Amino acid sequence: MQIITEPALMQATAEKLRLHRQRIGVVMTMGALHEGHLSLIQQVRSVSGTVILTIFVNPKQFGPDEDFHRYPRPFDQDAAHARAAGVDYLFAPSVESMYPEGFQTSVRAGSIAEGFEGMKRPGHFDGVVTVVTKLLQITKPHTAVFGEKDAQQLAVIRRLVRDLNIDVEIVGAPIIREKNGLAVSSRNIYLSGEQREAAQVLYMGICHARREIEKKRTDLFGIANEIERMIAEEPGFRCDYVAFVDDELFVPAETAEPDKKYRLLLAVYAGNVRLIDNCLFTA
Ligand code: AMP
Repeated sequence: MQIITEPALMQATAEKLRLHRQRIGVVMTMGALHEGHLSLIQQVRSVSGTVILTIFVNPKQFGPDEDFHRYPRPFDQDAAHARAAGVDYLFAPSVESMYPEGFQTSVRAGSIAEGFEGMKRPGHFDGVVTVVTKLLQITKPHTAVFGEKDAQQLAVIRRLVRDLNIDVEIVGAPIIREKNGLAVSSRNIYLSGEQREAAQVLYMGICHARREIEKKRTDLFGIANEIERMIAEEPGFRCDYVAFVDDELFVPAETAEPDKKYRLLLAVYAGNVRLIDNCLFTA
């Protein structure tokens, strides 16, 4: 595995690979690699001759009060995981090389990015689509895999490549969970043992939704309220939002129509750690 830190060298390398007819697959991460990231690497490896993993903690997608400076950066451990997972190129640029002096152009996400994570984290999705556009230009992939864990991000990125005619296939990968159902996340290390155990309440909420929708209940708003109450009963837990949305537009859905797809979105504070999760349902 080759480690590259310079955008220009990564871009020249990707161009050479394309000239040699290699199919390039990319997985973009902020590092602190875990099972979720590794599953994305496996998925991209199955359809690509060359796998590029990017690790970049992108300051533009963090708000001023968020955890940019304390975000975990265990680089040597990440590099070992990437090598073991069969990554060919690890692209880990510095902030200065991605946003050199004079940088001033950015991409703006549209209405899918307005609610939920976009509302709670102003500017977040503009930062995401800007860095994803740059990383796609630099790594020149045929395929890019993103996790459904960040479902709104995946929807925003699908829209980005359609709207800007970016020639890449975007693939969504299923959420990897711990044994108790908690979605694996780099931020789970901030949880105490007790919080981690209690955090299974998010998954219990998803299971409640599944049972109710299987019973053909259509009042999505009512189901979301029940899940909110389940979570609020957990000491130290506080809901940021729990809601069903139309899966493509990410607008709230209160009542289900037969055979339509809806996504349940959850954002919950466990102490001061913010957890997100989601699940897709067909009514
Ligand atoms: P991050 O490093 O948190 O920016 O995540 C990088 C990629 O990994 C994104 O596409 C995430 O959606 C994906 N990802 C993070 N956690 C999981 C998980 N538990 N299961 C599947 N994909 C995940």
